[in-house]
Amino acid sequence: MSHLFYLSTAARPVLDRAEGIYMWDTSGRRFIDGSSGAMVSNIGHSNPAVLAAMRAQMDKSTFGYRLHFETEPGEQLAAKVAALSPEGMEKVFFVSGGSEAVESAMKLARQYAVVTGQAGRWKVISRFPSYHGSTLGALSVTGYDPLTDPFRPMMVEMPKIPAPRAYLDGLDMDNAATGAHYAAMLEDRILAEGPETVLAFIHEPVGGASTGALVPPTGYMQAVRAICDKYGVLLIHDEVMSGGGRVGTFLGGDLWGVAPDIIAISKGFGAGYAPLGAMIAQDRIVQAVQDAGGFLHGHTYAGNPLACTAGLAVLTEIERQGMMGNARKVGAVLKQRLKNLMQRYGFIGDVRGEGLLLAFEFVASRETMAPLPREMKAFDDLVERAYAEGLIIYSRRTRGGYEGDHFLVCPPMITTEAQVDEIMEKLTRALDGFADAHTGALA
Ligand code: PMP
Repeated sequence: MSHLFYLSTAARPVLDRAEGIYMWDTSGRRFIDGSSGAMVSNIGHSNPAVLAAMRAQMDKSTFGYRLHFETEPGEQLAAKVAALSPEGMEKVFFVSGGSEAVESAMKLARQYAVVTGQAGRWKVISRFPSYHGSTLGALSVTGYDPLTDPFRPMMVEMPKIPAPRAYLDGLDMDNAATGAHYAAMLEDRILAEGPETVLAFIHEPVGGASTGALVPPTGYMQAVRAICDKYGVLLIHDEVMSGGGRVGTFLGGDLWGVAPDIIAISKGFGAGYAPLGAMIAQDRIVQAVQDAGGFLHGHTYAGNPLACTAGLAVLTEIERQGMMGNARKVGAVLKQRLKNLMQRYGFIGDVRGEGLLLAFEFVASRETMAPLPREMKAFDDLVERAYAEGLIIYSRRTRGGYEGDHFLVCPPMITTEAQVDEIMEKLTRALDGFADAHTGALA
């Protein structure tokens, strides 16, 4: 009997070992890690250079409290992150995970407003659907009712605007008017709330679990940046999933050349080797807060030398092996192969994403883009079928509350084209099984 408890899932095998894109359970069964866990293990498992760096660090020290010591791995990693971030973002604040990074971003933004005489600003506008973390602050900007409803009385209600899901709304993604249409919703909301009360806008440049690799329409990223500037609203990019290289650039925002005021990263930053995340902020924000006495926030394990060593070694490996280039190249192949599935299965309504942050979505009909019936539990069904084939994919049912099924196919950035073949074979068998099991009920 296991003494652990989590949100209930099907019984799972016990993990034994993992290498590259593969994982084995204790009975010797092999799985392809087709979602890099929860889009975490970006450089694959058991990378020898990362493990060697961590072992060497372990022999020196594993923990030094940040108020007592600076550490070389911490300084080196912060310098590397700053070099990879937009200009003027030289300051890095380490944390141990994505929710902590988002909490830190929200609190830094608020403290900046307070110390610059804008104490009336406290609302953080976000999108619906969205996922920004499970702690109460991050949850307050999360647009996903099943996760947020029970906790509403304990949180401040934050304003939400629709995510730019042009494919569902029947708008043309490549048309600049589409981007302007969704960005205008931000401006309208800022005006409705009262600009002097709005602190920040937080969104994911390339969507993650909640929207299934949602790519913003043409012009959206730039328009959102301009609107935030117009009203003195800080722009926070949640790059917890899209950051770290998976989309083919270090940050999702880089795909559009848009620099936010604050960035939250995690997941692929520690890449499964250590719990690690970071908040990166514009120098003027950090300076103002530091000048006023310092940032009133911190987590005990933040910036520990072992986690920072892992993060540094991960970034070094990404550069040494050209993994971002591989994510672009193999991602394009995988995306095309997923798109080809639309000819075979009428119930795949959309394929989207950037680099190796890719997803496909099920629909009852491509004409209406209506979701499959909830009772079909497609999001569970296909995941279990893929699991039986030895392929792990990630699903969420998140069109608003509980009304759509999308699947993330996000293998590690070291995936080869031959391994894409292997993934597609298993996925196709799982989809065939799903189609057979629901004949008559599917388009
Ligand atoms: N933001 C985004 C975009 C995420 O995808 C996640 C995790 N799925 C989080 C925040 C929260 O990260 P964590 O689970 O590490 O707290």
